[in-house]
Order: sequence, then C-alpha cells, then structure tokens
Amino acid sequence: MLDTSNQPTLPPEIARRRTFAIISHPDAGKTTLTEKFLLYGGAIQMAGQVRAKGEARRTRSDFMQMEKDRGISVSASAMSFDYGNFRFNLVDTPGHSDFSEDTYRTLTAVDAAVMVIDGAKGVESQTQKLFEVCRLRDLPILTFCNKMDRESRDTFEIIDEIQEMLAIDVTPAAWPIGVGRDFIGCYDMLRDRLELMDRADRNKVAESIEINGLGDPKLAEHVPEHLLDKLLEEVEMARELLPALDPQAVLEGHMTPIWFGSAINSFGVKELMEGIGAYGPQPQVQSAEPRQISPDEKKVAGFVFKVQANMDPKHRDRVAFVRMASGHFKRGMKLTHVRSKKPMAISNPVLFLASDRELAEEAWAGDIIGIPNHGQLRIGDTLTEGEAIRVTGIPSFAPELLQGVRAGDPMKAKHLEKALMQFAEEGAAKVFKPSIGSGFIVGVVGALQFEVLASRIEMEYGLPVRFEASQFTSARWVSGDKAEVEKFVNANKQHIAHDHDGDIVYLTRLQWDIDRVVRDYPALNLTATKEMM
Ligand code: GDP
Repeated sequence: MLDTSNQPTLPPEIARRRTFAIISHPDAGKTTLTEKFLLYGGAIQMAGQVRAKGEARRTRSDFMQMEKDRGISVSASAMSFDYGNFRFNLVDTPGHSDFSEDTYRTLTAVDAAVMVIDGAKGVESQTQKLFEVCRLRDLPILTFCNKMDRESRDTFEIIDEIQEMLAIDVTPAAWPIGVGRDFIGCYDMLRDRLELMDRADRNKVAESIEINGLGDPKLAEHVPEHLLDKLLEEVEMARELLPALDPQAVLEGHMTPIWFGSAINSFGVKELMEGIGAYGPQPQVQSAEPRQISPDEKKVAGFVFKVQANMDPKHRDRVAFVRMASGHFKRGMKLTHVRSKKPMAISNPVLFLASDRELAEEAWAGDIIGIPNHGQLRIGDTLTEGEAIRVTGIPSFAPELLQGVRAGDPMKAKHLEKALMQFAEEGAAKVFKPSIGSGFIVGVVGALQFEVLASRIEMEYGLPVRFEASQFTSARWVSGDKAEVEKFVNANKQHIAHDHDGDIVYLTRLQWDIDRVVRDYPALNLTATKEMM
C-alpha cells in the first residue's frame, strides 16, 4: 500500500489533472462516451485511430476493421483534453478479456477509472473482471450507467447489483426520471438541479434547470405528473436508504458515485466530467524503488506502461507511452534511462491532443506523453533526471497458451524473428527461443491474440505465418542462486528457452514437472510473473 496520508499540496498545474481509464463490458458504450468526452473537450482526435495518413491509414483502418468485426479494441492509446479548469488524460483500455495483461498495465498508469455499465444489463462479466483489477490498486471508481434512453432496469435494482456484485458502496449522484421512451432526464442529487435530455439533437448538451429542493413548484413545470410522483418517492427513499456522497470514501475506492445518462444522446456526460473533476483524484504518489515518487517533486520522473510498434507502418517507429510521475517536463530535456543508465534527449515527445499528434512542448505529473524511439524504451522502464529510481508494480504474466510459430516462407525466418521480438517488446505476446532446435514459441494470455498477431505480422511485415500446436503448455521464469540455475539448465536443456530479454524460462506441459522442480531445486525460483524492468 502506498503511503498517501501525507499527500502533498500540489502546484495548481498538477492538481488540475485527472488521469483515468474507462472500464466496461464490450458494447456498454465506452467508445461513444469517449467520443463525447472529446467533443466536449474540444479535441476531436482519438489517438491511435485517426493518426496514420493516406496509405497508412488504409492499412491501419483495415486492422481497426478487424477490431470492429470482433467488437473489441485491441490496442490501447491515450488522449488529452481540457474541460472547465481540468486537464483530462484518458487512457484507453482494450476491452476484451484476452488482453487482460495489457489492460492491467494500462491501469498502472491511471489514478482512477470510470466504469460504464449498460442500464439494461447491469454488471457484466468483463466489468467485474476489470473492476477487480482496479480494486487491487484501490483505484477510485466513478460509475456511468448508460443507455437510459432505452428500456432499462429499475434504478434501485441496478444500484443493489453493483453494491452486491462488486462489494462497493454506491451513492446516486443523479436520479433518472422515467424509463425507456419515457426517460426525460435526471434529477441532480448533488446540486438540486434538473437535467433534461434533448432527444432531437444528439450532440446538444442537456438543458439544466436550477431547482430549489424537491418541494420547488418549478419541478412540476418540467416533469409530467405521472413521473413526478415516482421521482419524489424514489429520491426520498434513496436519500434514506443509500449512503450519501463521501468524497474521502470515493478517493479510497470504497464508494462509487453513479450518474445515469445516454452517451449517444450526449446526456449525463457533462455531469460525469464535472464529477471526475470534483471527486476524482489528483495525480497520485507512485510506488518505486528505492523510494516512492511524489507528483510535486521538482525533478521529472516518468515510466513506460505501454509500447506500440508500427503505428505508422511506413516508418518502423515505436511509441513508448510514458506516464509522468513527477515534475514539469519540457521538450528537449535530457532524461536518464535508468535501466541502461544512458542519457536520452527527449526531443520529439508527442501529446495525443487536438486534430493530430502534437509535439508535447511540456508535460506535468499526471500527463501521458508518447516518446518515439527505436526500441530502447520498454514496458516498465523509468526515466528520471539522473536518480537511479525504478517504478515498481508493472507485471508481466506467464502466458496461459503456447504455440509454435513458423514463417510461411522458410527463407524469411530472420524477418519473423525481428517481427516477433518487436511484438514481445511491445508486450503483445511472450516470445521464447528454445535452447534446442529452431523456431520460436509464442505465449499469450488469450487465444484471440494468436489471430491478431498473425494478422499483424502479415500486415506490418508482409510475412504470412503459421501457428501450430506446441509440446508445451506452461512457462515459468527461472531465477535464484547462480550455480543452482546453471545446474538446473544443464539438466533440463530440452525444456529451457530464453525470452526476448534473454531471461531463462522453463517450459513444460505438466504441473507435476513444476512441482518436481520446486522440490528438487530448493534454491531456485520458478515464477509465473516477471516484473518488467
Ligand atoms: P463499446 O463496445 O463499449 O465501445 O460500445 P460502443 O460505444 O461502441 O456502443 C455500442 C453500441 O451501443 C453502439 O451501437 C452505440 O451506438 C450504442 N450506444 C452507445 N450509447 C448509447 C446510448 O446511450 N443509447 C443507446 N440506445 N445506444 C447507445
């Protein structure tokens, strides 16, 4: 647990930043909500989608087509926009469970999450999984119940379901009025206002009417009689039965405020954004070794949580997404790449803002910048102004599925190796080179990743590939006493491989094997995760 009891008073530029991700089950409305955020924030661009140009765009969008057909989003990206006094940094999470590792790492880069649920479906499987990941980090969560313009469940029922399934207190920030076709808007429970939805104009921000408490006769002017009685009764019950908003409990992740709306009708989005500003956390202290990093430190520090290769297939560039943990970064600064101890001049960092990627002239703690590079920057790397400090807690999971991979054209084996290494560094898959024999073994967390990889290798490298069954099903990283590791490796050559960092991995198909190794080599560590560094 981080020690946040002495959370510093932050400089205003940092204090106004809100860095968050959206978690949801596919189809709940994450994309639509994101678009509305950007619309209100005055930034039309979504990084990772509109960026590539011309020919490159076609290739990119073909790939996006695959995502679309699947109803999933396979690559995460970041976008920044201003709203009111706040600077929002939204980090997109891939929605499909096959990409949980990527998602997990993305969530290490944010201070809060917005949970989007479908008003007719409630808490779905993927919402629950992602929520559990947020809980591991005690991330504050704000909830948006979407699609209220359609038939939805009873409001109390939705709130109860969240409380029960996710074991978190829920406090209504708004209360919906009417259901489905009858839905006209919400009563703002926090500010005693009426927000009315405009069904005719989907891009119009809702009308907002000040109400002087529930007894205000103005209510009856705007809410039809048959809905008004129900509203009064429900709000009264809600105030009696449900906990009131406790900002501290929200920041600690014990309570989530819920807004009701319809992203596609732009309804409730503004209130949600204001809520993120008012109740969402400022940039937080970052766990690191040998000491944690506080956002108000004068010196700049940041860490890589994602690497995306081939965003523009014409240039084999990679962009490392860096979460700034402290200080005030200025373009051109020389930072130390802690892993290699080498200085790096950060001359062309990008910010994913406005209509294209823009050069980031500056960035503050909480911001996400992209640093184009040729492979030096890897997931988990820390950049500082010289201090040897390393951000911790960015995991690499043991893959659960292993397959062999071959180039369709055997002459292209070298190209395949290059492509695989690139994806390994990007974190899209684990790649193991067995110490005996040729070829590679690729490990992923979900089966769909094989398909995505095959299609990306073909598209980005022009290499048709074949995945085939592997004799192995499990991988464990090997570490520990040097002599013991050597003895173990020599005795188990046919099970040994190296990952893209050159670390030793033990491949097997039997849990029994793993148990045996643990018993026979007590000075050895076999681990299912490796912290990235
Ligand atoms: P994602 O998979 O979570 O990104 O969901 P999308 O934003 O792509 O939305 C899934 C579908 O729901 C799309 O067809 C949207 O047009 C639709 N949708 C999104 N928001 C709303 C809403 O407020 N009301 C209704 N009726 N449909 C919506």
